Amino acid sequence: MAATVISGNQVAAEIRAELTEKVKDLKAKRGITPGLAVILVGEDPASVSYVTGKAKAAQEIGILEETTRLPADTSEADLLKLIAKLNKDPKFNGILVQLPLPKHIDENKVLYAIDPIKDVDGFHPVNVGKLLIGDPYFMPCTPHGVQQLLVRSGNDPAGKHVVICGRSNIVGKPLAAILLQKEKGANAIVTVVHTAAKDISYYTRQADIVVAAMGRPNTITADMVGDGVVVIDVGVNRVNDPTKKSGFRLVGDVDYEAVSQKASAITPVPGGVGPMTITMLMVNTVRASEIQNK
Ligand code: NAP
Repeated sequence: MAATVISGNQVAAEIRAELTEKVKDLKAKRGITPGLAVILVGEDPASVSYVTGKAKAAQEIGILEETTRLPADTSEADLLKLIAKLNKDPKFNGILVQLPLPKHIDENKVLYAIDPIKDVDGFHPVNVGKLLIGDPYFMPCTPHGVQQLLVRSGNDPAGKHVVICGRSNIVGKPLAAILLQKEKGANAIVTVVHTAAKDISYYTRQADIVVAAMGRPNTITADMVGDGVVVIDVGVNRVNDPTKKSGFRLVGDVDYEAVSQKASAITPVPGGVGPMTITMLMVNTVRASEIQNK
């Protein structure tokens, strides 16, 4: 039987509608407008499109959003000065520096300069540590989005064996930290696999839930998963497709057609995890405004 499709577009729309109400309430009852400052250095087309998407989502929800676009040759010192200014500006509850930064700028130095209470990407070491001990200000957007997709599609990870393929600092590791907490919507048994595994199928076959976050197209095939598995595909890969005007199409890390014949539920690419990432940034911005106005 074909799997249920877990629609990220649908879950994201649901969360955005809830946030819009919350923001209306914050404004009406407490005079608070959540604010998000976005910094874009350079004109990398993918980054420009991400930043535009974030600004649009913020505006739709009623969040005050301001993007500062800086030239590619901006110095590290000038960028740090801008962050120091935004750290002190009460108008902005969240600060997001769009990555990647140009090579002459030390990315870690910049991310570590953001006040952890305004770090809505959740990448500051204070937030990484707080997440691990189960007391987060903010959860990083993509793994938080994965958790919401599971919970809101009726696939609560509690007590389930979740196998996460990939251990990056922005997806695999924080997702493991989120799902292993003894909390509602988590409490899973978590295995993380990576390139040192001789055969990742040994692990994925034992999973109730597989999360693929490797950045390798069609790596999870039908023979690698058990019947009834739930599959979340974080991967976004460009593969050549001469039938498309652009010359390429986007695919995930999972062989969607074959795996969806075996899985009980699966996310598509695009339209799965993608729409959740920006949505969870909005969740974090509203949370930041609440924390800062306690
Ligand atoms: P990354 O930093 O390149 O990390 C990839 C991870 O996968 C590494 O831990 C790597 O292992 C592991 N890996 C790679 N090939 C593998 C294989 N054949 N078998 C087992 N493990 C393997 O990537 P990332 O930033 O986490 O992103 C992963 C994917 O998610 C990318 O396609 C990215 O575009 C996508 N993504 C999507 C969103 C979204 O909003 N939808 C957000 C973020 C990322 P090692 O550590 O051993 O090298």
